[in-house]
Amino acid sequence: MSERVVLVGYGPVGARLLEGLLPAVRDGRIDLTVIGAETHDVYNRVLLAEYAVGRADRDGLDMGDRLVAEEAGVRFVLGMTVVGVDRDRRVVRLHDGIRIPYDRLVLATGARANVPTLAGLERAQRHRSARPGVPDQLDHGSAPLPRGVVALRDLTDAEHVRAAVSAGQRIVVLGAGVLGMELALAAAEAGAEVVVAYHSAAPMNRTLDENGGRVLAAAATAVGVEMMHHARAESIVQRYDDHGQAWFDGLVCADGKVLAGDLLVLSCGVAARTEVASLAGLAISSGVLVDGASRSWTDPDVFAIGDCAHVADPADAGADGRVPGGPSGLIGPGWRQADRLAELLSSGAALGAASAGPAAASTGPASAAASGVAGVVASISPIPVERPGVVMLKAEGIDVVAGGAVDADPFSHAPGCHGPQVTLWADPARGAYVKLVTVDGVLTGFVAVGMPRTGAELTLLFERGSELPADRSSLLRLDAPDAGMAVVADPFAADATVCWCNGVSAGAIREAVAAGEPTVACVKASTRAGTGCGGCVGRINELLTREAVPA
Ligand SMILES: Cc1cc2nc3c(=O)[nH]c(=O)nc-3n(C[C@H](O)[C@H](O)[C@H](O)COP(=O)(O)OP(=O)(O)OC[C@H]3O[C@@H](n4cnc5c(N)ncnc54)[C@H](O)[C@@H]3O)c2cc1C
Repeated sequence: MSERVVLVGYGPVGARLLEGLLPAVRDGRIDLTVIGAETHDVYNRVLLAEYAVGRADRDGLDMGDRLVAEEAGVRFVLGMTVVGVDRDRRVVRLHDGIRIPYDRLVLATGARANVPTLAGLERAQRHRSARPGVPDQLDHGSAPLPRGVVALRDLTDAEHVRAAVSAGQRIVVLGAGVLGMELALAAAEAGAEVVVAYHSAAPMNRTLDENGGRVLAAAATAVGVEMMHHARAESIVQRYDDHGQAWFDGLVCADGKVLAGDLLVLSCGVAARTEVASLAGLAISSGVLVDGASRSWTDPDVFAIGDCAHVADPADAGADGRVPGGPSGLIGPGWRQADRLAELLSSGAALGAASAGPAAASTGPASAAASGVAGVVASISPIPVERPGVVMLKAEGIDVVAGGAVDADPFSHAPGCHGPQVTLWADPARGAYVKLVTVDGVLTGFVAVGMPRTGAELTLLFERGSELPADRSSLLRLDAPDAGMAVVADPFAADATVCWCNGVSAGAIREAVAAGEPTVACVKASTRAGTGCGGCVGRINELLTREAVPA
């Protein structure tokens, strides 16, 4: 008999799971129902900023093929919100009261944008027992954002930003994380007037150290983005149109400054959507707590993947109940979870039909009610908790890349002592800055601003956990005008990651090209490289050009 799998959430990670389950759906092992609150077909959320500034068209966001899935037998229930799960009866309840039974439930409910506490922005009252009445209330409850305020998380938000950008309006971006900065720089390049307000001393303060951030701020200012550091936003002011409707008019800061604008884009981070899990009594921390096989700590028949999932080992929970880590908020780890879970559920479905009763050992609280799926966990190695990867700012002409912990103080450890050693180089007048943190000679954190070749080299060294050359200045010379091709390591070595979203190496791309055609489209189709955030398409092109030139 088929196993009934219900997938809640049809975002990019849910779509990837669906794709992986299709063979099992086709041959009748899995009966799949997909429930999604958005009415559209799935789209690549990562590219929303590109769409918002007019660099991508609507078709370019499409992913997945619903018709193919429907032909295979997948049922879609779109524009519907799951508001409850009865785990004893194994049914989910939709906002219109319809109940759908499951054998395995997968939550891929993603994340919502944080709305800061500002006078004039009524926050959604999110009580644990609050249930969204209709899909539109999923994120804002009964308190929608005022007109002229968006959080760039879905297509509707992106349409608002797109209209403002194409009209050359003034956009106030609140928050200077990587998304806020990417949007600000791209919108300014596309002709909008942009001001970024952030409370820290420098932008991207979760990724860069303060000096690196200051060099980035200077680069942004140089291309026309107004950067307002130490801006403590307190409230918004509104204006009224001829129909008496209120619109955003300005952001008021604690020092009384008003940043006037036509559109306020909130870029204040995201939080996992865990309310369905919470109502169902599943363990949650920063996300739905799942083990390395994406299985809930509480219920072996419930899984969570993507932005809503907090992967952790139950043994790591502190005495106070705190669990380290949290959802990465990145597409790559979510896609890897989806791939593994598809493998697991497909095999589990096959095995579940044959096996009766509890299966063999598994770890964690979930093992108590081990099932057919649990039986195959042992043969499919779980995903290790991914360490935070490298962050690259996608911006024309401004190269920023960083990875690992970069806070270490250059002067806190004497030379030769154990502990992080720091190497710094700054040339703010030229917009260049590098910070290297090493432990026992191995790179554990780095920032490179305005130093593309050094940044690429450091990325590779960080990824490989390599020891740095004793003379660190050799790395800095990579960006010197006379450096030629004096590269320490080959940025396109077989094991060098080219696409971080899909974890595709240069070697895999070469193999795809050897078996197909030397085009980006072919590489995308056969390896998936370049189909996530798209930030690596330039590097794929560079690799293809290099391969085309006879040695
Ligand atoms: C502008 C922007 C730029 C980004 N850039 C990058 C980048 O460069 N690199 C990167 O790695 N990541 C980036 N991200 C993050 C990336 O988009 C997310 O990691 C990814 O979308 C996570 O996918 P998901 O399917 O887990 O969740 P989501 O994309 O949030 O999708 C979840 C879906 O579940 C639905 N849902 C939620 N609750 C319910 C319910 N109760 N019932 C029914 N349906 C429900 C939602 O409506 C939604 O459609 C970016 C995000 C944004 C917004």
